[in-house]
Amino acid sequence: MSGSAYETTNKYLQDGFDALGLNPKTEHMLKTPSREVRVELVITRDDGSVGNFIGYRVQHDNARGPFKGGLRYAPSVNRDEVQSLASLMTWKTALIDVPYGGAKGGIQADCRDLSTSEVERLTRRLVETVHEFIGPTEDIPAPDMNTDGQVMAWLFDEYSNFHGFEPAVVTGKPVDVHGSVGRDAATGRGCMFALREVMNYDGEQLEGTDIAIQGFGNVGSWAARLLHEKGANIIAVSDITGGYCDPTGLDIPAVYEHVVAEGDLETFDDADAISNEELFTLDCDVLMPAAIGGVLTEENADDVQADYVLEAANGPTTYPADKILENRGVTCIPDIYANAGGVTVSYFEWTQNIQHFSWNETEINDQLEERFVDAHEAIRQTMEEEDVSMRVAAFMNAIERVCHATEMRGLQ
Ligand code: NAD
Repeated sequence: MSGSAYETTNKYLQDGFDALGLNPKTEHMLKTPSREVRVELVITRDDGSVGNFIGYRVQHDNARGPFKGGLRYAPSVNRDEVQSLASLMTWKTALIDVPYGGAKGGIQADCRDLSTSEVERLTRRLVETVHEFIGPTEDIPAPDMNTDGQVMAWLFDEYSNFHGFEPAVVTGKPVDVHGSVGRDAATGRGCMFALREVMNYDGEQLEGTDIAIQGFGNVGSWAARLLHEKGANIIAVSDITGGYCDPTGLDIPAVYEHVVAEGDLETFDDADAISNEELFTLDCDVLMPAAIGGVLTEENADDVQADYVLEAANGPTTYPADKILENRGVTCIPDIYANAGGVTVSYFEWTQNIQHFSWNETEINDQLEERFVDAHEAIRQTMEEEDVSMRVAAFMNAIERVCHATEMRGLQ
């Protein structure tokens, strides 16, 4: 049995605790979420019927700063998944060293069944229900699966109806609505920096590297475009409708244009159609899950042919699969490092909102790059000193920072 998403995160966390030799009381405190809010959101559907949607916000830890984490809309959202994602945010913000804690939210909803105005009503109803628990110094949501700049703009607007003009309540807003340049691309750009750092350390280059990517939404499509620009061959991409493969390298700008025009990859006919499951076992250098959690399992880990797994998605690798990959010498670049670009530029957006000042894109991208280089150096140092995997080293560095803040503030 692979275990639930939250169990998986806690097992990874426990490996970090064990390597650091923490006492059980501290471990228990660091594992336990601070607050969980469950809501039932009732909206009037376009046809006049009533829609009832369950939502969660889990605030995991705020020793280092306000709770921070995305908001996803998906049918699979449940309490366990949100608990797992909230905890991951605590370790991600600590590892990349932005002054936040960790949180996550989600609404159990299939956006393909909802009109734009229904998504807007659902978002506004969520804010009406949870506005007392969020805020620029309390808890700052951001986009995640099926939520984008538009959803963040509604969230900002509705929160401001209760508390006055307050753009810093949420990040990932459109640039014209107090968002930051570079935020849309940030998670994909961070993935590119993470992969470059790890491969350069091994004496390898991005140029000419064969990469297969599951998920062609915000993260997957930006990572594909940026890696393509660096000369990597994106040999396969997929989304919820299926995948496409060309061992000589896909024409990524054409794939992107198709998705912008059609809404998804379905009907792309310039490459061989493959299933999402086949994508994981393709002959490539880098496998990049950039969609949902729990996709690399005991069932397929032995068949992964890539040398690197770049965890662009949150929690894509189950605990047993991680051990299989590690034993086979596959380097897993853990989610808390690989996909930390989004929260890093979210921090820059929040900072700009608070200062009522905007930075230019060069400044944003340079500062993002610097944080990825620094975090990689720190991870390498721990890997060498402690003889542990990249994931354990990343968790150790993050846990040490959260522990230190907890102790210094006297929160124990
Ligand atoms: P998105 O909604 O923009 O895109 C999701 C993509 O995954 C789409 O292409 C969708 O078709 C595909 N997908 C969904 N279900 C699938 C399935 N069952 N099989 C195959 N493909 C499927 O979401 P996103 O923002 O790109 O997020 C993707 C992942 O990255 C999530 O795990 C998210 O938590 C993580 N992440 C996102 C950000 C961010 O800034 N957006 C930051 C850090 C981590």
